[in-house]
Amino acid sequence: MKIYDVSQLLDKDTPIYPGNPEFSTIFESTLTTGTSNVSKITMGSHFATHIDAPLHMEEKGFSISDIPIDTFIGKCTVLDLTNVDVSITESDLRKAGLVENSSSNKILVLKTKNSIRGFSKFYPDFIYLDPSAAEYIVSRKIKLLATDGPSVKKFHSKDLIHKFLFDNNIVIAEGLVLQNIEKGEYTFVGMPLRLKGLDGSPCRIVLIEGDFESLN
Ligand SMILES: [Zn+2]
Repeated sequence: MKIYDVSQLLDKDTPIYPGNPEFSTIFESTLTTGTSNVSKITMGSHFATHIDAPLHMEEKGFSISDIPIDTFIGKCTVLDLTNVDVSITESDLRKAGLVENSSSNKILVLKTKNSIRGFSKFYPDFIYLDPSAAEYIVSRKIKLLATDGPSVKKFHSKDLIHKFLFDNNIVIAEGLVLQNIEKGEYTFVGMPLRLKGLDGSPCRIVLIEGDFESLN
C-alpha cells in the first residue's frame, strides 16, 4: 500500500486564482513569554487544492458543511489526459478509458498537462472541461470530480460547467498535484474543513494505492 499526497504546499508562493483573497500566515509565538505558538491564517475558500460546494455557484446550493462526509472518500479512477492540449472532450474521456457502467458512485480524477507544468505560478491557459466532457461525466453517475486545474471551466469564460455538475449532484475538487500519479485505481480521501455555510474549503487530498485494509 502506498499513500500519495496530491495537495499543493501552502505558502506565500502558491498561485492564487486572479481576484481571490491573498494567502498569509502569521506565526505568533508567545513561547518566550510563557504560553504557546498559535498562528493566524488568512486564505480564500478556493485556495490551492480545494473542494467546491454547490453554494459556490448556486444561491440555495449545499454549503461545504452540508455535503455528506462519504462524498469525500471512496474508490477513484485516475485518467491520463496529458495528451490534451486545450480542453477535455467526451471523446478524450472515452479514449482515456472512461467507459459505460464503470464509474457509478465513484470518484473521477483527471490528470492533465496542468500537473506536468506544475504550480509555480498561475497559468491562465490551463486545461479545462468542454461541455461534452461534463455531460459524459454526469452520465457516468460519479459523486466527485477532481482535476489538476485551478478551475473546471475555461479562464474568464461564462461558467456553465460548475453549475451543470452541481445540478447533477457532482462535487468538484480542484488544484490536485498529479505529476507523479499513474493512471489507475486508488482510494481517494480529501476532507474539506467543516466550515459552516461556506462555498468551499481548502483540503488535504491523498490517493491510496493498494489494499486500504492493510493500513492497520
Ligand atoms: Zn473552486
